[in-house]
Amino acid sequence: MDKPLEELRRALGDRALVRELLAPRTTLRVGGPADLLIEVKTVAELVYTVRQARQFDVPVFILGNGSNILVLDKGIRGLVIENHCSGYELQELSPGRAVVRAESGASLPGLANRLARQGWSGLEWGIGIPGTVGAAIVGNAGAHGGCMADRVTAIETLDERGQIVRSSNQEIGFEYRSSRFRHFKREVILRAEIELARDDPAACMARMNEYTERRRQTQPTEASVGSIFKNPPGDYAGRLIEQAGLKGTRVGNALVSPVHANFFVNQGGATAKDVVRLVELVRDRVKDQFGIELQLEIEICGEGIS
Ligand SMILES: Cc1cc2nc3c(=O)[nH]c(=O)nc-3n(C[C@H](O)[C@H](O)[C@H](O)COP(=O)(O)OP(=O)(O)OC[C@H]3O[C@@H](n4cnc5c(N)ncnc54)[C@H](O)[C@@H]3O)c2cc1C
Repeated sequence: MDKPLEELRRALGDRALVRELLAPRTTLRVGGPADLLIEVKTVAELVYTVRQARQFDVPVFILGNGSNILVLDKGIRGLVIENHCSGYELQELSPGRAVVRAESGASLPGLANRLARQGWSGLEWGIGIPGTVGAAIVGNAGAHGGCMADRVTAIETLDERGQIVRSSNQEIGFEYRSSRFRHFKREVILRAEIELARDDPAACMARMNEYTERRRQTQPTEASVGSIFKNPPGDYAGRLIEQAGLKGTRVGNALVSPVHANFFVNQGGATAKDVVRLVELVRDRVKDQFGIELQLEIEICGEGIS
């Protein structure tokens, strides 16, 4: 371990884990170790830990639920902070309107579910998206016609100078499955304010149940990272991959799901190298056949394809 890392490890104490394997902390169950990993439960702890790492000049990677990343086989250098800051508070603004202030490590489906049960509508579409609120902003997560860009009114971040700042919806730079945070990695999302509207709890729950049922019928249940590629304008990545005859294609233990062609599943023991090769194979075949270059929806993180 180099000197800055060793100093940071000492400063963080026993809770900092050395060379902790990341695969079990991702939904695809793939990836090597983090040099250092720490779990944080409060926003104060998150802020303190990022500032400490910066003081020692150690790079920081914020890990949510690991459901939109492919961690390479040699893992992530520096400090991985696993974000478990999950508090939230609801404020009724006027009859029928509320805002929920959620910490960035809160589970999106967990929050959607709790709000729906209380008759607050706005996040039902997030019920099947197995990630945190912070990462849902990074990737402008969405489904069933809803997305974060339509609901988030403001956020609080820790900027690259270590200051806590607010950004409005417009300043987040939301795009299709993207935001300014996908391009600029030195800001950490701390909290988000999300707009809600009053509805009948039974109606909210019925919508969520319908979305869950739709997923059950169309998506695989094995370890995956959700959709691998973004949908190209006016089309679906899954349709193109299926039309190219690639359902069921395998590299090592990574497989193009026979259930949904834009999901690649880990059949047990897949390496990042397997997944990357499968990504390249699928991208090349779709390009050859349809002239369309698929763009990744997932993020590839870390180092080395061993
Ligand atoms: C079965 C399945 C179904 C899915 N369905 C959908 C879907 O319908 N729609 C959809 O949009 N996505 C879907 N996804 C993808 C994924 O769940 C979302 O992208 C989700 O928002 C990722 O959240 P996470 O906490 O797991 O992020 P992670 O994978 O842990 O992190 C993603 C990125 O965000 C960064 N990040 C995380 N937290 C912060 C923070 N607080 N501040 C700054 N950066 C941060 C990370 O560093 C990383 O770069 C699906 C995934 C699976 C496995």
